[in-house]
Amino acid sequence: MIVQMKKNSTKKEYDKLVEYLKAKHLEIKDASTDDVMVFGIIGDTSSIDPSDLYAFDGVKEVTRVSTPFKKASRSFKKKDTIVKIKNGIEIGGDQFVIMAGPCSVESEEQLRIIAKSVKKSGAHILRGGAYKPRTSPYAFQGLEVEGLKLLKKIGDETNLAIVTEIPSPDLIPLFEEYVDIIQVGARNMQNFHLLKALGKTNKPILLKRGLSATIEEWLMSAEYIMAGGNENVILCERGIRTYEKYTRNTLDISAVLAVKELSHLPVIVDPSHAAGRWDMIEKLSLASLAVGAHGLIVEVHHDPEHALSDGAQSLKLNKFSQMMTELEKVSEVLGKSMK
Ligand code: PEP
Ligand code: MN
Repeated sequence: MIVQMKKNSTKKEYDKLVEYLKAKHLEIKDASTDDVMVFGIIGDTSSIDPSDLYAFDGVKEVTRVSTPFKKASRSFKKKDTIVKIKNGIEIGGDQFVIMAGPCSVESEEQLRIIAKSVKKSGAHILRGGAYKPRTSPYAFQGLEVEGLKLLKKIGDETNLAIVTEIPSPDLIPLFEEYVDIIQVGARNMQNFHLLKALGKTNKPILLKRGLSATIEEWLMSAEYIMAGGNENVILCERGIRTYEKYTRNTLDISAVLAVKELSHLPVIVDPSHAAGRWDMIEKLSLASLAVGAHGLIVEVHHDPEHALSDGAQSLKLNKFSQMMTELEKVSEVLGKSMK
């Protein structure tokens, strides 16, 4: 972090700030010239918010040169993190991992039909919401514990790992029992109380990007989980809110590249919530594979017209199967494995 003092600032103001920082065990490297007082702050500056330093008299400009997140950053760990899930699935390496299933778990029959089909098409992990964070309190809220039990049952039957969204920290013990990956939804990305609690479990966490979150805010949320001791974090780009209304959200495909540069954590893409339209899913999935994402999470339904949530963005079973064939062809060219 670099601090530049104002032209008319005094040595006393400079010393006061330097003393404050030294008390935080940070090293100061002076780079002042005859014209201007400037210094660099060396060491772990993650506990300092640059904007707080403007409270000191004489400060003109504070510039961060390192990222505010530490454990999640590429400079902290050069090698890519690989998150191991059961059945030999590894997210973050050369495997392109497919999570597929309905938006919501609706019934045992529905989940079984979809799970069997996506498994046959080559999916690795079954998705399905048991607790549904809906914009309207009158919309289907999910089967809750019953839904978790169904996911476990059908996951065991089809030998698919399970990913599903957690709404609150009190449910962690239940999720530890029933699921393989705990999903943090976009609306909860900055629920710091939940993130802290998830730092205490060792289950892999799928951290969705918030609706209006910057890449830095998203990685700071990953940092919350990692700071608590859980380093099994998988990031998920699911589209962000922009002024564009033609699609449900705007898929920020460049975020995959940005995150891979800034962090060692794996990153997957959710084209379903990004586009909000089933007819765009295949092409966006191919783009995600091409750009270097480590996998996808896709909504699939056997009867989208009657789905209790997100039918418009759900792929029919045969469309999902066709998409998998296309992805396999491209993954081969790219040297990625979908097995
Ligand atoms: C979901 O995956 O079911 C979901 C609600 O997604 P998001 O949190 O990204 O909106
Ligand atoms: Mn959905």
